[in-house]
Amino acid sequence: MGRREEPIRVTRSSMPPFAEYTKMIQELWESHWLTNMGDFHQMLERELKEYLQAENLSLFVNGHLALEMAIQAFGLTGEVITTPFTFASTTHAIVRNGLTPVFCDIREDDYTLDPEKLERLITKQTSAIIPVHVYGNLCRVEQIEAIANKHQLKVIYDGAHAFGECLDQKGVASFGDACMFSFHATKVFNTIEGGAVSYQDPELASEINGLKNFGILDEETVALVGGNGKMNEFQAAMGLCNLKYVEQEIGKRKHIYRQYQNRLSGIRGIRLCPEDPRVKRNYAYMPVVFEGYKKDRDQIFRELEQHEIHPRKYFYPCVNAYQCYKGRFLPEDTPVARRISQEVLTLPMYADLPLDVVDEICDLILKN
Ligand SMILES: *Cc1c(COP(=O)(O)O)cnc(C)c1O
Repeated sequence: MGRREEPIRVTRSSMPPFAEYTKMIQELWESHWLTNMGDFHQMLERELKEYLQAENLSLFVNGHLALEMAIQAFGLTGEVITTPFTFASTTHAIVRNGLTPVFCDIREDDYTLDPEKLERLITKQTSAIIPVHVYGNLCRVEQIEAIANKHQLKVIYDGAHAFGECLDQKGVASFGDACMFSFHATKVFNTIEGGAVSYQDPELASEINGLKNFGILDEETVALVGGNGKMNEFQAAMGLCNLKYVEQEIGKRKHIYRQYQNRLSGIRGIRLCPEDPRVKRNYAYMPVVFEGYKKDRDQIFRELEQHEIHPRKYFYPCVNAYQCYKGRFLPEDTPVARRISQEVLTLPMYADLPLDVVDEICDLILKN
């Protein structure tokens, strides 16, 4: 097989037609209003609130700060129960708020926080649960909500992977007290860098919007020790352009997902995520678990790399095995997460990934 011109990466950022973006940002050369909740910011906030079916929504410069500042706005204390099978951001947002993460193991089938193992981790110090809709697999929201209500805990979802998804036609923003979304370049919908938090209680608006702008309430009143989490107008313009195409992009992703599924499902030792008929999916990722397969994850990773195909070991290592948390947690406490992190490979997935590349990837995985 001839060498391809460009390597195949795990993802490729969606971009709108160049002329649509430049036409929008031309207005900024006229207004000279580049950030601080300008017109594009307000438009995108309105459009996303509707698209995501959010009661309330606030844009941020990135998803991480949206989560970090949402945690601060809720005034959480003590311990927060979360999953170790996620991106660094989820746990770091907890720790950077001076809170203690307590890791709950994940479910075998969809890798989300296991509600069966949740309740025994609750102590007098617990103030919240921060689960992750990992790979766009929606958490057991009803079970988590029942436990949270019983113990009066807040639930903030890390919905970085769940943009646009619905459970029984209800947007993911409807679940829990709040949900963070990431609009990073690598996500299903991007604003270059960017993010948002949706939340149920309208009373939180002044806190959340205040925190992202240094706590400045008005010209003479600084009411909170906030930071700077504002999305700028160039980001918002990118979002307005990309939002027009997001459904179309998700449709293309679905097509690619089906091709992977046709080739890889039903093969001994290869596990794909289950599909829940109640969920409208966004096909953000293509995670595959190799468990007792003829080749292990690392061998497949190396073979694909040799062919200029670059999957990712998302999420390896688990957060509770990170160097920066050494000595604070035991990865053995979450054995399912630990094992899955050693067996999972996230294959290339983006709207314009050619189907013959999908076939090539599957051929490489399946050959002896
Ligand atoms: C991408 C991501 C984040 C962070 O979002 P940014 O917009 O990159 O700051 C948080 N959590 C998860 C699970 C993510 O994948």
